[in-house]
Amino acid sequence: MKILVTNDDGIFAPGLSALYRELRHVGEVAVVAPDTEQSAVGHAISLSHPLRVKEVLLPGGVRGWSVTGTPADCVKIALAELLNGPPDLVVSGINLGPNVGINVLYSGTVSAATEAVILGIRGIAFSLDTYRQADFSGPARLARRLVAALAGWPAWPPKVCLNVNLPARPEADILGIRITRQDTGRLVEHFERRVDPRERVYYWLAEINERQELDLNTDYGALQAGYISITPISFDLTHYPSLVPLEGLELKLR
Ligand code: MN
Repeated sequence: MKILVTNDDGIFAPGLSALYRELRHVGEVAVVAPDTEQSAVGHAISLSHPLRVKEVLLPGGVRGWSVTGTPADCVKIALAELLNGPPDLVVSGINLGPNVGINVLYSGTVSAATEAVILGIRGIAFSLDTYRQADFSGPARLARRLVAALAGWPAWPPKVCLNVNLPARPEADILGIRITRQDTGRLVEHFERRVDPRERVYYWLAEINERQELDLNTDYGALQAGYISITPISFDLTHYPSLVPLEGLELKLR
């Protein structure tokens, strides 16, 4: 199995190296990742500046390329220019921080996996439920086992990628695996207003994700409760139930 590994935390992020060190045992791994952190760039691509690509030899003899672009750029250019033939699987992560609920829309990690399925390749995104400096070795071993199991999913539908969130706790303390839907609850967020040393005001987005009740059928709820959450994601943003009611309006141009 040929695996392309990418991320949004940058090619030197510990979550990425932990991931490719483990995935080497599952298949032939190549790494194409942003040269700097690209968290929360969503599905952005670079159109107003060129992409510079640098070949790097990563520990363990893995071939890598750093790209001056976004995660979606990395997947595109990997498939079009850098790899010898298409991979069987694109794996993105392991992200420092969860990607659940509305944040899936902002996530560069998930967008790399989405870009893969847009290009006809299976994609899996992995995120770890902590923002603190984490030991990724345990989560990477879990990711390896999940990749080995999920890659063989015979009924993997086209246009679908998998968004996997891992609890930041030892494997023995993880309650299990739940197949979930995306939480759509509103984020609790605010802008922190601060003053810089030259007395100019600036703002920084801060977010607290809290729910009154945990719904274990959502990515957010399952992860909070201590489960591994696996959500199938698609890039078709059409809201199908609205098609018929909208047609009922009988909108006419003249
Ligand atoms: Mn990130």
